[in-house]
Amino acid sequence: MTPAAPANALQPGMTAKPRLLIVEDEDAQAEMLRYNFSREGFDVLVAADGDEALLAVDEQQPDLVVLDWMLPGTSGIAVCQRLRARPATRSLPIIILTARSEENDRIRGLESGADDYVVKPFSPSELVARVRAVLRRARPALSEEKLVCGDITMDLVTHRVSRSGKRIHLGPTEYRLLRLFLERPYRVFTREQLLDQVWGRDIHVELRTVDVHIRRLRKALGTHGDDDVIRTVRGTGYALDVDEAAA
Ligand code: CA
Repeated sequence: MTPAAPANALQPGMTAKPRLLIVEDEDAQAEMLRYNFSREGFDVLVAADGDEALLAVDEQQPDLVVLDWMLPGTSGIAVCQRLRARPATRSLPIIILTARSEENDRIRGLESGADDYVVKPFSPSELVARVRAVLRRARPALSEEKLVCGDITMDLVTHRVSRSGKRIHLGPTEYRLLRLFLERPYRVFTREQLLDQVWGRDIHVELRTVDVHIRRLRKALGTHGDDDVIRTVRGTGYALDVDEAAA
């Protein structure tokens, strides 16, 4: 495959990379996928069975799951059905990997709620393209140049943020926080998830640092006297609630 840069490659330091969970029990296949998707700018997690996958979805909040059909223990279809049955993961994009001999399974896979399926053997570039296509549909924020939510606009090219047309000045951390909120409005993020996605998993930062930066973001978003749109969920974390504030 050609190592050309992806069309919608994310600029370094701009945002969290799209996070992909690969559920695959065959080590060689899992490593091949990890290698290819990492190189394409994804943050890649691997789970070797269904139970591990369900745990990883809860703890790591992937943007998309690539799910092998044939897994030991909890099957791919059972994982898919469980994710679809839970409100938090009802619309989490899922691509099923299936062998050519499992023709009927493919249909059952789509009936179980998968967004797409890819037949083994496949080329890594084909799977990358399918993943990008599903992500574009599910999470257009990853391929757009502008994020808009209520009266807040973020230009991802110039890094300008405005509210009701008036410029808002943000520090780099507040910018990344706001970007995450704008990509998934109304969703509640725990402090741990914010740390993980804005600061990165490898950096040690105190949880209360998140509160400090949320305060700065709140203050900046209120520069022109607009309502507070960051909702504090006591004991849990924060969410962006633009409509409530506008009501
Ligand atoms: Ca397998």
